[in-house]
Amino acid sequence: MATRQPPERVVVVGAGMVGLSTAWFLQARGVAVTVVDRVGVAADASWGNAGWLAPALTLPLPDPAVLKYGIKALFDPASPVYVPLTTDPKLIRFLVGFARHCTSAKWQAAMTVFAEVNRESLGAYDELTDGGVHEPTRLADPLLAAFASARERETLIDEFRSSIALGASVEFERLDSDAVHTLEPALGDAVQSGLRLHHQRFIDPPRFVESLATSVRGRGAEIVSGFDVDTIDDNAPDSVLVVAADGRTKAADAVVIASGARLNTLARQFGVRALVQAGRGYSFTVLPEQMPKSPVYFPEQRVACTPLHDRFRVAGMMEFRSPDAALDPRRIQAIVDATAPMLHGIDWSARREEWVGSRPCTTDGLPLIGGTRSPRVHIAGGHGMWGIALGPLTGRMLADSISGGPVPAVMRHFDPLR
Ligand SMILES: Cc1cc2nc3c(=O)[nH]c(=O)nc-3n(C[C@H](O)[C@H](O)[C@H](O)COP(=O)(O)OP(=O)(O)OC[C@H]3O[C@@H](n4cnc5c(N)ncnc54)[C@H](O)[C@@H]3O)c2cc1C
Repeated sequence: MATRQPPERVVVVGAGMVGLSTAWFLQARGVAVTVVDRVGVAADASWGNAGWLAPALTLPLPDPAVLKYGIKALFDPASPVYVPLTTDPKLIRFLVGFARHCTSAKWQAAMTVFAEVNRESLGAYDELTDGGVHEPTRLADPLLAAFASARERETLIDEFRSSIALGASVEFERLDSDAVHTLEPALGDAVQSGLRLHHQRFIDPPRFVESLATSVRGRGAEIVSGFDVDTIDDNAPDSVLVVAADGRTKAADAVVIASGARLNTLARQFGVRALVQAGRGYSFTVLPEQMPKSPVYFPEQRVACTPLHDRFRVAGMMEFRSPDAALDPRRIQAIVDATAPMLHGIDWSARREEWVGSRPCTTDGLPLIGGTRSPRVHIAGGHGMWGIALGPLTGRMLADSISGGPVPAVMRHFDPLR
């Protein structure tokens, strides 16, 4: 629900890809913006991710295969999906809700929605880069998926067939062992077959988000670091007050909560009952002898690798735990063990930038974008695996909704009050 009068001033809580994109598109609609973050720009998931803008792979997370992995994970902490034995009631409710969505029928319903937004997601990026965000998106030419066997490859192709049947556009070609090694000499001996995906892009996430923040500041916004929002008070008749834990305040006509995996804490009082759980992922960077020029995906290992400008990022793992838990070095080691046979020319012991961050996951795999019970409070988050790819489109849709512009019909699927 939009406020009756379009707001003149909005506070955005969260300076990740989603919050900053929302701020940018609000500014484009003439709204003055202040962004606050408990830490600063790209403090959580928007920093250490793989940076893929890959519509072909932007698929709903809850699917029967993930459930199978999850059950296996209960017994194997090195599995790419790690579900700890837990007594935390919120996590148990999330896992039960998530498991209920891991059916083919629910995956297909969510995939139809993803197919629709995936068609628009790169266009929203182009608006940013045409409109003053200097860091470019890069064409992944090619984006390679690499496998230890041709049988493993068929699993991904089956998934593509399902998504194409539901409206997705995916162009790929099979590569034999020689062809895939010729295209990417850094691939290791264990790689026996490949897939080449067309029309995908990628970014250098730390650079891109910083560049987006620079553009938001350049258009007049203040981005306040170290502002840990404790309360949002919408009781005044004509404004909303955002209060930090240290007592500082920011007043505005409306607020957007884009606080990633911590979204529930602030959104619950406004009727948002959908759970957002941290699906923690890990990454690190290495310096390969020969730098791959494009991203490489190892689907069976669930590892995504991305050339940042001067280093190579290796990212993976899905660990359902608190966003406050410390980095677990065993997860990094599990990524190394799974990936080392698939790449050569890498000194794995010379890893840098070891990182853990929290994907904001919902039980149904769909983000939360739109209004709440309060006409002054809006939500942008819960994108799980794909908040980088879908962040700018989210910002554009929400800015249109808040400023009273026309919104695409697909937004009804993202109702935060569902
Ligand atoms: C290993 C890994 C790989 C990934 N790869 C990809 C990929 O290739 N492509 C893709 O599209 N997505 C990818 N993702 C997912 C993507 O990173 C996330 O979906 C996305 O970054 C979420 O953005 P966000 O802005 O919603 O949240 P965040 O980036 O987490 O930002 C939330 C911000 O809110 C702030 N905040 C929280 N609480 C408060 C508070 N109370 N007061 C003030 N500020 C607060 C935090 O400090 C943080 O800066 C990956 C994630 C991981 C972990």
